[in-house]
Amino acid sequence: MSNKNIRVRFAPSPTGPLHIGGVRTALYNYLFAKKMGGTFILRIEDTDQGRYVPGAENYIVESLKWCGLLPEEGPGIGGGHGPYRQSERKAIYGKYAHKLVENGKAYYAFDTPEELNAKREEERAKGNHNFRYDNVTRNEMKNSLTLPAAETAQKLAAGEAFTIRLKVPVGGAVSFQDLVRGEVTFQTDDLDDKVLLKADGMPTYHMANIVDDHLMEISHVIRGEEWLSSTGHHVLLYQALGWEGTMPQFAHLPLILKPTGKGKLSKRDGAKLGIPVFPIAWEAEKEEDRFLGFREFGFLPEAVINFLAFLGWNPGTEQEIFSLEELCGAFSIEKISKGGARFDYDKAKWYNQQYIQATDAAELAKIVRPLMEEKGYSVSDDFLVDYCELMRDRVVLLPEFVSAGSYFFEGVKIYDDKNIAKRWKPELKPVFEALIDLLEKTDSFEAVTLERGIKDFIAERELKMGQVFPLLRIALAGTMKGPAVFKMIELLGKTETVGRLKTAIEYFEKN
Ligand code: GLU
Repeated sequence: MSNKNIRVRFAPSPTGPLHIGGVRTALYNYLFAKKMGGTFILRIEDTDQGRYVPGAENYIVESLKWCGLLPEEGPGIGGGHGPYRQSERKAIYGKYAHKLVENGKAYYAFDTPEELNAKREEERAKGNHNFRYDNVTRNEMKNSLTLPAAETAQKLAAGEAFTIRLKVPVGGAVSFQDLVRGEVTFQTDDLDDKVLLKADGMPTYHMANIVDDHLMEISHVIRGEEWLSSTGHHVLLYQALGWEGTMPQFAHLPLILKPTGKGKLSKRDGAKLGIPVFPIAWEAEKEEDRFLGFREFGFLPEAVINFLAFLGWNPGTEQEIFSLEELCGAFSIEKISKGGARFDYDKAKWYNQQYIQATDAAELAKIVRPLMEEKGYSVSDDFLVDYCELMRDRVVLLPEFVSAGSYFFEGVKIYDDKNIAKRWKPELKPVFEALIDLLEKTDSFEAVTLERGIKDFIAERELKMGQVFPLLRIALAGTMKGPAVFKMIELLGKTETVGRLKTAIEYFEKN
């Protein structure tokens, strides 16, 4: 059921690679939109030219694509409320900022950066280290509230640089109902007079964000907790613009905490702990600025989504595995937690394992093939499908498909000498030769048939299984670890199995 009134946006600033917390914000917006039959919008907040990083927008788009969180409106997608890149909406914001001045809700400030610095220094000398341009200090500054009207007019006419600042009321309070936190109240005396329009005519985040949320008819603002402290200003802006009646509802998501549970997860934690904190790889000139993402670590996007969904939300039942579609059905803002959510990397891996096991082997083969090719292994489709089926239980991250069974593709490179020394006896040589004979005569190389044949063979010779199987494994794989040995033989096929056994006997003898 579609619901035109529910419109949410993911509004990242393209200032670098999108942190996994940003992906969670996008996910919760997406889930809420789908659950309510609403619209999920991508808006690029790129008005801060100083912090703009080329490639970051593309990174955001690619990340969302990888996760399967496709916006219905956004840059390059279109929609009835565009453009969706704030830099292309520059012309829109000034009008509203000037209107606020006309209505007495904002004012022109003519203080130059030098003057502001001088004022800051002056305050510091007096022991006040936190100078703030606010409803008290504005009276000492150079602005349209303190200057005679004629002087303001003259400055404007002369084209003198100015910013527009919000005129925060004195001695008031501003409250809103946060859907996660309940009632949140700010004392206006604690809020500074935020710049709305910069000297270069560009809006600040606050101005552009509110104007766009209004014009794009956003119904719910779902974003990270770090924006909670800005919301007092945002509500004041809605009031000042006369848009209070259609002000969106707010939901501030809990912080994502470090794996230790102490402190906020940071971009640097990834490199420090050797874990991914970005969705996909970020390329950069300098080595230390490059990051691998969940994708490159070998996560399936469905697993990442499931993991992220539970970072700050839970359905209130025991069920942990949810497809994106199921999440869309189960999601609700009421079940978002207030407290920070610990980034539990082991849990992420657990999810990945669950999803690998649940993915069709043919599908896995398609995902694994490029990883094989990177390694220079060339294998047939059929082989790869069977291989994935055989190995999937042993794999947590996708590259392990390549490493865990490398002996399948490149033969045995290293034998487990310790176990050979312990287990190999010269009298086993004729046994293994007879086994080769048996295998050469066996037509059906299916695991069940092989198992029966080989077990009978061992019993007939009155040997113990433990005398043969470990060495058989080592002969085929180099190690005693690995999947079921009969499955291994089935997959390797007759020629390869026999060849490996012959090579191994020679090696065992010399050892
Ligand atoms: N551009 C802000 C960011 O980078 C958007 C915050 C919001 O959603 O209002 O996260």
